[in-house]
Formats: sequence, structure tokens, C-alpha cells
Amino acid sequence: MHFVPTHDEVVALLRRTGGLRDGHFEYINGLHAKEYLQVALTMRYYEAAKILSVGLSRQLRANSEIRAMIPELSIVAPATSGLPVAYGVCEALRARQVYWAERENENEPLRFRQYLELKKGEKVLLVDDILRTGKKIAELKKLVEDHGGEVVGLAVVIYQPNPSTPTFDPLPFYYLAKLDATYYKDSASCELCKQGAPVDKVWL
Ligand SMILES: [Zn+2]
Repeated sequence: MHFVPTHDEVVALLRRTGGLRDGHFEYINGLHAKEYLQVALTMRYYEAAKILSVGLSRQLRANSEIRAMIPELSIVAPATSGLPVAYGVCEALRARQVYWAERENENEPLRFRQYLELKKGEKVLLVDDILRTGKKIAELKKLVEDHGGEVVGLAVVIYQPNPSTPTFDPLPFYYLAKLDATYYKDSASCELCKQGAPVDKVWL
């Protein structure tokens, strides 16, 4: 394993630990796919989680501006997906603190726990396991800024953008691997359905 794991090493680690699966999958929104990514399945293994979060922290430390902020840096994640990444990165960087935002119900906005207060101008690094649509990170960024924090960067294990994923330029953005996803828009256009392959319904 390299100092920062390579794209291929990350993909191999995801496959070995069940985080990246081959098969025939149907999402709640009706899309079909032949691969399924669930980073949490990889993060359950402490050693795998450590390789990924240490790799990310090394990329972050290589940014001299971020490195200078580490003693004061807050690592903030959306719950629950980003939590293991946030604690791993905080431990590896020796940053100041970790906290998260969550929602009570699917249709409610992200919020912080009661009594959580940001210092004005607090330096915040946002982390998550995957950046896909970017909606959750955009919402989290706004929440931090509305509470007076300053977002200084963004780090995720896997970057899997689609054509409408926003860019967060000029924020420094780090990821360990960029994966393409191929989706079929429905069963009628799905190669695997045509072959009669049994389908797994996935929730996320
Ligand atoms: Zn299908």
C-alpha cells in the first residue's frame, strides 16, 4: 500500500471488504446498475477505515494552508455516512474536534445538536464517505456558514459525480478515488434485465 493509496488500491480494498459489489441492482428511484457502492461496508473494518482516513489526512496535510490550521481545525460531517471518515481523519491529523449535522426525518433540514456553537470564523473541513450529487455537502456547507464557520476544504473517500454534480471551486477538494457509475434508467433499457439476471433491490 502506498503512502496515499492509489486509485486501484482503493478499488481493490472496497471490493475485498464488500463496499463495491458486482451484480444487478435496482435503486428506489428505479435506476438499474451492475455495480453497487456502499463505503460503510468497508469502513466497518478498522484496518480498512484506517488506511482510507490516513490516506486522506496525508493529502490534506500536503496542503500548507490546511496544515497550518490543523490545531484549530474542526472536522464536520453529515451523519451518519461521514462519521467514521471524520473521526479517522481527525485522529490522523490531530485536528481539534469532530461534530456532525443530522436530520430527524428525511424531509427536514440538516441541523446541529442542541448547544453546539461555532466560534465566529471557525475553520471547518467538511468530510463524507462519497460525493455524488453534492446536495448533502452543499447543505452542510451552508449550515456551517450560517453558524459563522468558515469552510476551508472538502474531503471524501470516493468521488462519483454525475453530470449535474456542482463544483465547490475554489475550495480545495480531496478524494482517494474517482469512480464512474453506469446506470440504466429503467428495467426496459437494462442489459442485465434483458439477460434475465436476478435483481437486488437496494435502499440507498
Ligand atoms: Zn436491470
